[in-house]
Amino acid sequence: MLKINELCASVEDKAIIRQLSLDVGPGEIHAIMGPNGAGKSTLGNVLAGRPGYEPTAGSVTFKGLDLLDMDPEIRAREGLFLAFQYPVEIPGVSNMELLKAAVDARRSHAGLSELSAIDFMKMAREACKAVDLDQSFLKRGVNEGFSGGEKKRNEIMQMMLMEPSLCILDETDSGLDIDALQVVARGVNAMRAADRSFIVVTHYQRLLDYIVPDYVHVLANGRIVKSGDKSLALELEAKGYSWLEDEVA
Ligand code: ADP
Ligand code: MG
Ligand code: MG
Repeated sequence: MLKINELCASVEDKAIIRQLSLDVGPGEIHAIMGPNGAGKSTLGNVLAGRPGYEPTAGSVTFKGLDLLDMDPEIRAREGLFLAFQYPVEIPGVSNMELLKAAVDARRSHAGLSELSAIDFMKMAREACKAVDLDQSFLKRGVNEGFSGGEKKRNEIMQMMLMEPSLCILDETDSGLDIDALQVVARGVNAMRAADRSFIVVTHYQRLLDYIVPDYVHVLANGRIVKSGDKSLALELEAKGYSWLEDEVA
């Protein structure tokens, strides 16, 4: 699904990602943990092709395609989905308009026809239901005045509608209460499929009780310094990150 090979990337000419390698197979869930400022969000932004996040060396293939060579829109149409830590508000554009445009762009890229308004609404209503979000959120401006929990539910709803191949969730659990956390986890678990993969960036082991990862990686100083199974998250919770710095040194 995703093969990152010795990737280096800079933000404003400062090297942030340093020879990072990661292999995500189809159907797998990989959790990425690590200290603040390690480069976790930068990695997501580089993969999504966000302007200002410059790959400088290494390679990334997504479903066998050269990811770094694709425009951000094409990456999304090919099925890469990045859920941001801080979702943006877009007043004046309804959630529904944005979602339909995104879904249709992805469908058109796959050679499928545009959805009828009725079919789209049916899908959108079901997705709202799955994340306990009132249907009125479809008519509101994108994220406009949404609470933190509503933004996250909205994001998972978007993800459901987009049917991505690779979902990157960057601290989707930050600031969520237990109910919202479980809704997010339920959404992710409902979407688990043999041909879909997830990269879940989180600070808290708690999320991984609900979204059980196949692999846990520690990203520190721009590279992956340790990988393991879900027990690594428990070890990190108990011991913090400093012991790893000693180990790496
Ligand atoms: P993490 O998500 O692991 O906490 P980030 O990827 O957000 O870490 O940040 C890694 C480093 O990159 C930090 O030193 C941060 O200040 C820097 N960085 C990230 N994005 C930007 C940006 N847009 N402009 C300047 N520096 C940035
Ligand atoms: Mg951070
Ligand atoms: Mg971050």
